[in-house]
Amino acid sequence: MNKKKTLFGLDSKSYEHDFDKTALKTLKALPGFDKVVNFFLNWTYIKWHIVELQGSNFLVTRESCPELYDLVHDVADTLDVRPLPRFYTQWGYNINGYTTGYKEDTILVLNSGTIDLLSEDELRYVAGHECGHIKSGHVIYHTMGELFNSAISQIPVVSSFTTPIYYALMYWIRMSEFTADRAGLLACQDIDAAISGIIKMSGLPIKYFENMNKDAFIKQATEFKQSFSGFTDKAIKTLTIAGSSHPWTVLRAAELLTWYESGEYQDILNANTSSECSACHMQIPAGVKKCPYCGNEV
Ligand SMILES: [Zn+2]
Ligand SMILES: [Zn+2]
Repeated sequence: MNKKKTLFGLDSKSYEHDFDKTALKTLKALPGFDKVVNFFLNWTYIKWHIVELQGSNFLVTRESCPELYDLVHDVADTLDVRPLPRFYTQWGYNINGYTTGYKEDTILVLNSGTIDLLSEDELRYVAGHECGHIKSGHVIYHTMGELFNSAISQIPVVSSFTTPIYYALMYWIRMSEFTADRAGLLACQDIDAAISGIIKMSGLPIKYFENMNKDAFIKQATEFKQSFSGFTDKAIKTLTIAGSSHPWTVLRAAELLTWYESGEYQDILNANTSSECSACHMQIPAGVKKCPYCGNEV
């Protein structure tokens, strides 16, 4: 396993995207939003959804699949995510994952294709992206979005009453991806792995994985951003109209590269100093006198 720098005490506010923060503020300020949140939270469907997940997917534990368990929990440790989410895999060969659950009980689900088709650092990027949603408290609203999507066609009262909330929620869910991508980069600590992970998600056929041209994709992302005059609301609005399952990969790559190049990513890595314990080789917070894992005097 490639050891990463553990970001002890990492505060999600230090990297949350402005578009995410603004859209969430707008969403929460909409009349009736609290009622809708409570409606979904009290709705037994949310519990059924979790039961369904538990009954259908593969629970990854140290016993059932130790290598994968250790890798994903190492990602959660790197980002200082507490408590650790329960982790499931589900069958599917698009590179994808999601988080669900409520309150402290969070669940991270990765498609089996995500694990088979990505390198270790690319997988850290995707698992880190999902842990980023958990760390920023996005999970409850994402779960609401999923339930909304399944309820809106079935319950006309829900759809007419909540249409503005629905659209504001879907818009924010997209904005929250920018924040989660930054968490993914902080987890894998390798911009090349983050970009190659996004390239695979965006549709590069498997037989070309070996000859991937990252520069060409970066050029596509840069040109996309320029064509929307410096990444204004126009790009966001155009893509918000697109179907909610659209992955937005090029736009996400462009936005992640901008953040990386701004130096903020490196500042966060530099601010969270840690060192390696000479006895157990775990990453420990800088300045501690005793290793919290093995008790070794540092
Ligand atoms: Zn996401
Ligand atoms: Zn130690």
